[in-house]
Amino acid sequence: MSFLAVLMKNLFAGPSTVAFPFGPAETPEAYRGRVTFDATTCVGCRMCAHVCPSGAIRLEDRADGLHFGIWHNACANCGLCAHHCPTEAIRLSNDWHLAHPQSEKYALADHAVVRRVRCTSCGTEIGPSPDALVRRAFRDVAGRTRHLTRLCPDCRRAASLEGALP
Ligand code: SF4
Ligand code: SF4
Repeated sequence: MSFLAVLMKNLFAGPSTVAFPFGPAETPEAYRGRVTFDATTCVGCRMCAHVCPSGAIRLEDRADGLHFGIWHNACANCGLCAHHCPTEAIRLSNDWHLAHPQSEKYALADHAVVRRVRCTSCGTEIGPSPDALVRRAFRDVAGRTRHLTRLCPDCRRAASLEGALP
């Protein structure tokens, strides 16, 4: 094909690449980008920190709850944390905006607090049982199961012996 023919063909076909950074960038659906965390659905099982190969996740028990922290610079975006999280509280988004100046490398972190709740029977502090997990793990019998997951292990055992468990 002659040079002119190629030129004309390309002119009519239009651009074959994305006009980044002057146009919107597209990311594939399953892109493994910045890790996101939702403290309202976390049960504090620590599985994410256990499986993280790069130690990017840190969970710390403090007086006001379980403190979750992720340092994005250490994250390898492998997706193991999201794969093993029982409640999908931790996910990988398709956000690829992680470039930053060297001076901000320690600031590239997210932090959230998973609040403890109190046993509805005796008041003992326990980890939260988000509805998403209750629905997945238990047969929910007209909201009865939901009530039982708000009990501490001792009160749940007592309820079980009394035949209150479904
Ligand atoms: S995506 Fe992988 S490296 Fe990043 S926090 Fe999750 S388990 Fe760790
Ligand atoms: S984010 Fe998921 S895996 Fe990590 S502590 Fe919370 S519930 Fe467990």
